[in-house]
Amino acid sequence: MDAFAKEPVSNGRIAAALEEIADLLEIEDENAFRVRAYRHGARVVRGSARGFADMVALGEDLADLPGIGTSLAEKIEELVRTGRLAYLDQVEGRTAPGLRELLGLPGLGPRKVKALRDGLGITTLEQLESAVMRSRVRGVPGFGAKTEARILASLEHLHRRPVPHVLWPAAEPLVLALTRHMERIPGVTRVAAAGDYRRLRETVDRIELLVAAGRDARATERLLEYEGTDRVVSRSAKRVKVVLRNGLSVDLHMVPARSFGAALFAHTGSDDHVATVRRFASKQGLALDERGVFRGDARIAGRTERELYESVGLGYIEPELREDRGEVEAARAGALPELLTVADIRGDLHVHTSVTNGRDSPRAMVDAAAEHGYEYVAITEHTASARVSHGLDAERMARHLDRIELLNDRQDRIRILKSAEVDILKDGSLDLPRRILDRLDFTVSAIHSYFDLSAAPQTERILRAMDDPHLSILAHPTGRLIDRRDPYAVDFERILAAAAERHCALEINAQPERCDLSDVLARAARDAGVALVVATDAHRKEQLDFMRLGVGQARRAWLTAHDVLNTRSWKDLERFFAQRRR
Ligand SMILES: [Zn+2]
Ligand SMILES: [Zn+2]
Repeated sequence: MDAFAKEPVSNGRIAAALEEIADLLEIEDENAFRVRAYRHGARVVRGSARGFADMVALGEDLADLPGIGTSLAEKIEELVRTGRLAYLDQVEGRTAPGLRELLGLPGLGPRKVKALRDGLGITTLEQLESAVMRSRVRGVPGFGAKTEARILASLEHLHRRPVPHVLWPAAEPLVLALTRHMERIPGVTRVAAAGDYRRLRETVDRIELLVAAGRDARATERLLEYEGTDRVVSRSAKRVKVVLRNGLSVDLHMVPARSFGAALFAHTGSDDHVATVRRFASKQGLALDERGVFRGDARIAGRTERELYESVGLGYIEPELREDRGEVEAARAGALPELLTVADIRGDLHVHTSVTNGRDSPRAMVDAAAEHGYEYVAITEHTASARVSHGLDAERMARHLDRIELLNDRQDRIRILKSAEVDILKDGSLDLPRRILDRLDFTVSAIHSYFDLSAAPQTERILRAMDDPHLSILAHPTGRLIDRRDPYAVDFERILAAAAERHCALEINAQPERCDLSDVLARAARDAGVALVVATDAHRKEQLDFMRLGVGQARRAWLTAHDVLNTRSWKDLERFFAQRRR
């Protein structure tokens, strides 16, 4: 049974079918009289107060109605009785599917579609898009630049779909490749990435690129030649928006050199930060936009961001702080923090090797850490209850520690710290016997099971683990995985209070999908007097580079070197951990 036949076919649906026939016949150059007959019939049906389906059911002869001849009457009856119209199927069947999509574009009637096909051979959306991008459509009779712009807007609307975001490290190679591509264009003087990427957000929604170039660099066109470009969404002389093959979109803005700083500021965001600075400027009678800072008609700043901030009476604000979380007030008071840098980091305190679920040998990881210029590195293998990670039981851990001691004795480039990622069991106890824990320089401890306990027992579990003086650092404290797993339910304030009181450090885990703690929680931890550690949780050599992400997260949390334990010498660090064991 046809589903349509069960419900009476509405006048609207009949009219739409007749109109579609008219449109398709018109594109086919069918004689104008027939086209007009279908269009007229459609109008009659649409304007009728009575339902055509009822008339058919009552056995009335539709051909008697003015404007509906025998041929149309038969077709309407067929549609009402069967829910289908064989003639429409037939006309549709012989029309290129692309042409029907073109007809569906707002503002493109059959006459325009026909003109595009006859004038430029366009029969698909892709061909139309490409012709619009090359400004060829405006040359077709009946089209102008305005129609072209309207078509572009419709195409953009058609392409609108949820924007995928990527983790920051996935955006990085794209940003670097695009930057290199644009920098190679003769006449381009400067390329800079702005947006979430520049603010080192955990995820990047789209890439914002600013380009300064001489007049004839044709940079927006050249972006289209970038091999990773999948399609163009919109384009003008000053701005082009494309979607890359991986689905991420790129906004490229052409900016004059004298406005580069102002544009960088505007496109770096966040929107809230920009709005707050703008309000701050306007209170002083200054206008701030993408072109610069203006007093009346006079541009007083815009070439660099520093100049822009200073012109409104603020110190330079690092991109990572631009979230409208008090940074403007702090800048005004000269009270911005001196943010942590990668160079401040003296060692990585959370590293796995092939002994459990890492890829590289202890020796290879230690060498790689030494090459980072670190003073110390901690090898932190999993314990037995973390079964999926091939964790070590007490005996195997003991032998592993023997080998680490040996490895440490055999080289003097870097101090290898004896540690372990000790699992916190369901009851809050640590997954190693005391005699092994006592051998360790410190521990990172973490939850790897029972993520779904409710807040009260989960909080108790962590507090009980913190009661054990062997717990030195609570690793990936909330357990969230970006886009994959929410943080566990915990009373985070109680955990912070307990950590501060007991001198437990909290980790900022630099694995891209963890970034755990978040910027907001890390700042709350610092404010609660809790010491923080930035560590990579590297499972292979290259992942030691994630330190940059962890440091980015710490910067977004307003942390200074003073707030982060692994900026200290091992001696100072040892003293900190020793407080726990007293
Ligand atoms: Zn872990
Ligand atoms: Zn780990």
